[in-house]
Amino acid sequence: MRKWIVAGNWKMNNTIDESVALARTVKEGTAGLKNGEVVVAPPFTALQSVREILTGSTVAIAAQNMYFEDKGAYTGEVSPLMLKDAGCTYVIIGHSERRKYFVESEETVNLKVKKALATGLKPIVCVGETDGERNKGITEAVVNRQVRGALDGIDKLDDVVIAYEPVWAIGTGLVATPPQAEDVHDFIRRLLVEIYGCAAADVRILYGGSVTKDNITELIAMEDIDGALVGGASLKADGFLGIISKMP
Ligand code: PEP
Repeated sequence: MRKWIVAGNWKMNNTIDESVALARTVKEGTAGLKNGEVVVAPPFTALQSVREILTGSTVAIAAQNMYFEDKGAYTGEVSPLMLKDAGCTYVIIGHSERRKYFVESEETVNLKVKKALATGLKPIVCVGETDGERNKGITEAVVNRQVRGALDGIDKLDDVVIAYEPVWAIGTGLVATPPQAEDVHDFIRRLLVEIYGCAAADVRILYGGSVTKDNITELIAMEDIDGALVGGASLKADGFLGIISKMP
């Protein structure tokens, strides 16, 4: 039985004070929750302060990105050791905004996933097609390339979470229909089974792209959708807690 995850990606939003206030409300609103996992991904500057708020709660912390070296002359980068030190359990890797604006390649994503696992961080690996790719009918080819690329050389999936995030659905209000999303989740599951065998049955595959409390119920009802990676709707406590309240 896979335990659901609802993860909030705050992106480049929230001051430290705003992050602390949001984290506090999420903590209060999820007290006693046992049937799933709640994760928040604040900006780097707020990680430590959010950690102080969330200590003793069931809410885990994710970073939104990391570099693939432990330390050194990499101006502006943040290492996985630093993220562990700041209280992160998870790290989002290969978000489409990283791939697009910061030109992250499959190779870079793979190096980051490997390094995260070696450091004891659980990667939430993002994959998904653009609208142009969907219109050309190459969604599965794109997702196949991204999943294989990200996981190349990784022999165990125990700590890996996949997030299927169609790029055309991110921040657009255009949510994938539950059957559209399930088709790709099912494809990813079958791909993982092909590579890793039956262990792939336990991997959580999250859907991301304009999830709100009004559309999550139908999405989470799908067999291979194990939760959500939420951007915009995670920035307001009522929107985020509303999504969590709909989880089974
Ligand atoms: C995201 O950025 O991961 C995301 C899913 O954003 P939104 O929920 O705003 O579409």
